[in-house]
Amino acid sequence: MTHTMARLVATVLLAALALPLAAAPRVELEGRLAQGSVVFGRTDPGANVYFADREVRVSPQGVFLIGFGRDAEAHEQLMVEGPDGERIERDLEIEPRDYDIQRIDGVPPETVSPPKEALQRIREEVEMVREARRRDDPRTDFLADFIWPVTGRITGVYGSQRVYNGEPRRPHYGIDIASSAGTPVRAPAGGVVTVAHEDMYFSGGTLLLDHGHGLSSAFLHLQSLAVDVGDRVEQGDTIGTVGSGGRSTGAHLDWRINWFQRRLDPRELVDAMPGGGD
Ligand SMILES: [Zn+2]
Repeated sequence: MTHTMARLVATVLLAALALPLAAAPRVELEGRLAQGSVVFGRTDPGANVYFADREVRVSPQGVFLIGFGRDAEAHEQLMVEGPDGERIERDLEIEPRDYDIQRIDGVPPETVSPPKEALQRIREEVEMVREARRRDDPRTDFLADFIWPVTGRITGVYGSQRVYNGEPRRPHYGIDIASSAGTPVRAPAGGVVTVAHEDMYFSGGTLLLDHGHGLSSAFLHLQSLAVDVGDRVEQGDTIGTVGSGGRSTGAHLDWRINWFQRRLDPRELVDAMPGGGD
């Protein structure tokens, strides 16, 4: 072997040795691995995160978030690819939850079995909300400690199977907080208003507030709206007032949390209600 060749071989060997030195990306998760839960992650800036058939947005600081639906499977895979291509795959074991059955009588019958004339309107409203929930904004308003939009007795919880006027319907995805009509509803965290509708068929006055990275709040049955689409809202700002429009039996706020099309439990984001409302 000539001197030059030996040096070349040494260089190649060093290059090969250098590869395993590429560090696996850091992955830290905070939050409950449970149905309906939201989990905040931290990884290396520049890393790519894949979960639930999508590339999850990672902030320039390496912050990301993921969520598990009401009926999440027992296992989901999280894949993180570091800036130098090194990959980590995490098997996430999702804790199942039990959901109650809740019977609610006395709602307007046309909100349980809508007449044919209402179907087109319902479809349009559903699509409006679905479209807003596709947004993937780089804002990280979700990093705030969420506050309760109103306080009061909790009359409906996340996930329960709903039976309206004796008819089984879709599960309940929000948390219902009883409050008198006209009570101000406050933004639980900052965000941008992506839906502001005075009167949706099932939900009456309806707002959607986007907190960034696909995490959004929905507020249903509002009597009045104080904001419009495109408005920037800070935590604690009044965004509307409590009402009883749509499929409802009395004044209350139905507050929901979405991670894109997945429905999460708002209670995973807030501390116990001040004054022990529940
Ligand atoms: Zn509700």
